[in-house]
Amino acid sequence: MLQMKLCGDLVLREKCTPVADITPEILHTMDEMVKMMKSQNGVGLAAPQIGITQRFLVMMNPDTNEIYRMINPKIIEKSSKTCIMEEGCLSVLGADGLPVYSNVVRPESVIVEWTDEKGDTKMAKMAGTIARIVQHETDHLDGVLFIDYLSGVKREMLMRKVNRRH
Ligand SMILES: [Zn+2]
Repeated sequence: MLQMKLCGDLVLREKCTPVADITPEILHTMDEMVKMMKSQNGVGLAAPQIGITQRFLVMMNPDTNEIYRMINPKIIEKSSKTCIMEEGCLSVLGADGLPVYSNVVRPESVIVEWTDEKGDTKMAKMAGTIARIVQHETDHLDGVLFIDYLSGVKREMLMRKVNRRH
């Protein structure tokens, strides 16, 4: 049974290490992560959110329901054009136990390279919602949370709503 790590837990601030071998254990963990993501109505979940400091994540394109299992994902190009979208995170919850949301500015499209669950190298250009999700999730692998992009006052206001766990 996986346990969600919440804002305030230092594991969310660690830089994760690359996956050297795609073990059955990692594949099983990713399957469990997909289940957990769906059960919590999320669209992405990265390994450190369940306390594993390795570079893998799962995510779903909400427009197509396509599931991605990404190992060692890397954003190799970002558009200079940015856009504003609302973001939330399964690790950043309010007092009601639900994610808190805030607008975040990020590149509108990205090119991503990763290894899939079969060990094949993949590359894709992503734009719109899925580009947003992959940027949010790969940030987790470097210990970065979406709240880090908010300006002082906005971040303070959001953090007042967040139920922090130490
Ligand atoms: Zn998140």
